[in-house]
Amino acid sequence: MDCIFCKIINKEIPSDFIYEDGDVIVIKDIHPLAPIHYLIILKEHIQSISHLENSHQEVVSKMIFTAKKIAEKLGLKGYKLVFNVGREGGQVIDHLHLHLLGGWGKIENLKLKI
Ligand code: AMP
Ligand code: ZN
Repeated sequence: MDCIFCKIINKEIPSDFIYEDGDVIVIKDIHPLAPIHYLIILKEHIQSISHLENSHQEVVSKMIFTAKKIAEKLGLKGYKLVFNVGREGGQVIDHLHLHLLGGWGKIENLKLKI
């Protein structure tokens, strides 16, 4: 299948891996939109949130909990979790993934110290 995220999961193209288990991988976004921008990618190829079936409830919950655990490990006090859904929703890669964006607090603190 000609899917860039499937190729990353299968290690056919290199990527900055942060975490991997049986259900998900976490990589750094190649074009970060925040000081911290990670992608939690489901290993199973599902096109988007709008293609989910009831049987997927557990794995989608796993994506959100993975993001929560990573945010905790990074010491983020606040962050954004974003699913872009379909072209009108800004989705470019048709393989289910969750954006974890944060790190602005640390930058604010830096500015305050100057
Ligand atoms: P979306 O718009 O929700 O489909 O987001 C796709 C994201 O994947 C974008 O933020 C891209 O910067 C990111 N992206 C595309 N190719 C790669 C790659 N090879 N490694 C890491 N992130 C990527
Ligand atoms: Zn895929």
